[in-house]
Amino acid sequence: MNVSSPVSLYVHIPFCSRRCRYCAFASEPMDLHDPKPVIDALIQEAARYDLGSTIQTIYIGGGSPTSLPEKLLFGLIEYLAYICYDVSEFTVEANPGQVNEPILKSLYSLGVNRLSIGVQSFNWKELELLGRQHTAVDVAKSVYAARTVGFTNISLDLISAIPESGIKDFEHSLLCATDLDVEHISVYSLSYEDGTSMKEMLDSGRIQAVDEETDRAMYEMAIEVLEQAGLRQYEISNFAVPGLECAHNLTYWANRSWIGVGPSAASWYQGKRTVNVADVRDYVRRIQEGNDPTLEVQNPTLLERACETAVLNLRRRVGIDLSEFQQQTGFDALNLFAESIQNHVSNGFLEITDKSVRLTCKALPIADQILCDFSTL
Ligand code: SF4
Repeated sequence: MNVSSPVSLYVHIPFCSRRCRYCAFASEPMDLHDPKPVIDALIQEAARYDLGSTIQTIYIGGGSPTSLPEKLLFGLIEYLAYICYDVSEFTVEANPGQVNEPILKSLYSLGVNRLSIGVQSFNWKELELLGRQHTAVDVAKSVYAARTVGFTNISLDLISAIPESGIKDFEHSLLCATDLDVEHISVYSLSYEDGTSMKEMLDSGRIQAVDEETDRAMYEMAIEVLEQAGLRQYEISNFAVPGLECAHNLTYWANRSWIGVGPSAASWYQGKRTVNVADVRDYVRRIQEGNDPTLEVQNPTLLERACETAVLNLRRRVGIDLSEFQQQTGFDALNLFAESIQNHVSNGFLEITDKSVRLTCKALPIADQILCDFSTL
């Protein structure tokens, strides 16, 4: 597959019912906007591409797709399912408390076959601190309702290292998540992004970040508990029943082409990385006037592409597949990164097999530091 054939489509819904305290995603409160012109613009932007049979995965994220009025959300899904007729994985992000059995039934009947549910925690104090609007019971109800209507591929997102909480609190969330017997779980450590209320709370001393040692212990616990529950770690932060890894995200980690539509959506298509304007009104205006919604364009060199591919591939537990890398980038990974590979093999952070280079278990908690060494040459 070359870079000019997109395999995945990402659709960004820029609305949420209310902002969570830690969130830096491009999303605005729904009550400040009329969502209809935005969804119309998204549809017009998608229609500019010849998506047809090349798109294998669709992911509607945001923001909160399920904060949209049902008619708009269903209309968008129906349109996408119509123009992309060979899709094997169609994911919609759902917030617990915003979906019920009739809504899920409609999503399923329109072709959505994977749900990604934003759980974050099963502890009410943590949910309150994060500014989430749902309870642990809402999560269970959403999963049961999704099963009832036929979903067989459900993912839950969890956050570790939430301030004021300890390892037992996190274990509770992990165990509640595995009790729901879902096919996929993602675990990300809380990060304090500029401009979020969580960062302000941290800077003003109202909360304290979890210390590095506890953060690491939580990560190691996640690997142990989730693997024991039959969810195999296939990426630094992602775990799945074998065979049900998120195909859409695997596109990103393989550095294959995708198209993103909507305000702030990024694309990697025809050798260019582009990012759409984030401002919702500006985005709609540009589309309505027939103009390009793109704000930034980068044309990475072949060497830059090879570095990006290595960093993304190393996030996967399978690591860099040497022949796939050579075919995709034209470079021999073992030669191109000889110095970094040698250093990290000797300190036990990388291993080389006959087909691949990958992170060792020891490297996983400090993966970001190791990946930095592959980001430039
Ligand atoms: S629901 Fe998701 S996208 Fe919306 S504010 Fe919360 S974390 Fe951010």
